[in-house]
Amino acid sequence: MKEIFETFKPEETFHLGFQMGKEATPGQVVTLEGDLGVGKTVFTQGVAKGLEIEEPICSPTFTIVQVYEEGRLPFYHFDVYRIGDVEEMDEIGYEDYVYGDGVSMIEWANLIEEILPEHRTAVKIEKDPSRGFDYRRITIEQIP
Ligand code: ADP
Ligand code: MG
Repeated sequence: MKEIFETFKPEETFHLGFQMGKEATPGQVVTLEGDLGVGKTVFTQGVAKGLEIEEPICSPTFTIVQVYEEGRLPFYHFDVYRIGDVEEMDEIGYEDYVYGDGVSMIEWANLIEEILPEHRTAVKIEKDPSRGFDYRRITIEQIP
């Protein structure tokens, strides 16, 4: 199933994430694709809020994964932008998170395509300059 949404300000992207977080189930993996500054972290912040996490969510660029245990479900936020080799993911215990009972969110998932789980919710965020600076097209697809 594939759904396409359009947002015109960060709050709307946050809200889409919020809805996903409210409905998230144990073991769910969400992958996020899109260029730098497109809104992946904004979306993730909404998901965290939907999971009732009150702590601020920042991009875990230098640690690869940030773990939040205070919400309705454990939340594992990955940003793999700086990954050199997929083997680095083994070292941080990637599989334990992704095949565990929490909700995993992976920014820049396309960089670790070969180790993504078969079942996942794929979110793609794109700009379209002809529609304005704050416009985003957000495609949410259930795989498979
Ligand atoms: P990424 O994690 O993809 O690199 P961020 O979420 O950190 O991007 O940043 C997105 C930036 O784009 C923020 O500064 C946000 O305010 C801005 N922005 C403008 N319009 C939107 C929109 N419709 N949805 C999400 N973010 C938007
Ligand atoms: Mg980010």
